[in-house]
Amino acid sequence: MKRKLGLLYGGKSAEHDVSLSTAKAVIQALNFDQYDVFPIYITREGEWRKGAQLTMPVENTDDLVFQKDGNEEKPNDISSFLVSDGKPFDVIFPLLHGTNGEDGTVQGLLEVLNLPYVGNGVLASAAGMDKVVMKQLFEVAGLQQVPYVYFIRKEWQKKQEELLKEMEDKLSWPMFVKPANLGSSVGISKATNHEELIKAVDLALKYDRKIVVETGITAREVEMAVLGNDEPKVSVPGEIKPVTDFYDYDSKYNDNQTDLLIPAPVSDNVIANMSDMAKRAFKIIDCSGLVRADFFVTAEDEIYINEINTMPGFTPVSMYPILWQNTNLSYSDLIEELISLAIERHEEKQ
Ligand code: ADP
Ligand code: MG
Ligand code: MG
Repeated sequence: MKRKLGLLYGGKSAEHDVSLSTAKAVIQALNFDQYDVFPIYITREGEWRKGAQLTMPVENTDDLVFQKDGNEEKPNDISSFLVSDGKPFDVIFPLLHGTNGEDGTVQGLLEVLNLPYVGNGVLASAAGMDKVVMKQLFEVAGLQQVPYVYFIRKEWQKKQEELLKEMEDKLSWPMFVKPANLGSSVGISKATNHEELIKAVDLALKYDRKIVVETGITAREVEMAVLGNDEPKVSVPGEIKPVTDFYDYDSKYNDNQTDLLIPAPVSDNVIANMSDMAKRAFKIIDCSGLVRADFFVTAEDEIYINEINTMPGFTPVSMYPILWQNTNLSYSDLIEELISLAIERHEEKQ
């Protein structure tokens, strides 16, 4: 029996276009003999649009952008998008990043509708989206990370001097200032002195009410892909070498100069420790399906966990799929495995 697969993509986030490219690539990699493929597009404004069943891969992302059909009723009745011919989909593949996609909200909707879906559940998605909650859980799991301080907008407004003193006491320069709930390096800056720190906080506060400030570390950035549910496996490590000062938004999406070294040239000992840390992070955040675990590795081979990403970049040229290709799992097989894991997790819950 063919499975009905709903692909959710687009979305109200800075990564809208990335999501469209991912959707095109996933559709091209799917086996149409096994799946009836239904595209569900979320506009930049957050409106849902359902396309007709796809009978072949699309060549162009424009073919995945649907206009409003005049008969659509307002308000946008989202649950009606998740059935076809009155029957729910067998599995949903959310290919969304950021707000309303990676943060547990869409996952909550799919839970309420009792639909199996690929990737992380509500708790893991929400915890992985909030850098402070994530760091606190990593602390509980005994994972080494850089020192940090966090606060909310109200505290900054009321006791800026006190917070600056706390940062200058607990952390060392340079410092990285981040909005707690974003990704893709949006709103992140590096501050090398008091004035820059204040500016960086003000900038980050434009994106979020919660801010985290960290000691900046001089280290290599090495990532590992994790795949599975209760007994996850890890890929070979991959290193990122941005040409810019740090791995900012432009180096992620606009310049192709960032080098990826796969496998990362690190010792077996570092690989073993990093694999163990990646699995512990996966477990404490209660992940399922997939996660990319990102580390800093110093010249002395000290390993610090930076973050996990519960919906890592997933185009065929993104780190997560490439790491699996280098661990003998092709893009199509990876997609197949993720769908099986989604169904397995759903069946276990019933
Ligand atoms: P995002 O979730 O937006 O990817 P990250 O926390 O990974 O946010 O930060 C983005 C980039 O900023 C990292 O890939 C790294 O290049 C740099 N960076 C972040 N924190 C630090 C730090 N404490 N020390 C050194 N570089 C950092
Ligand atoms: Mg991130
Ligand atoms: Mg990151």
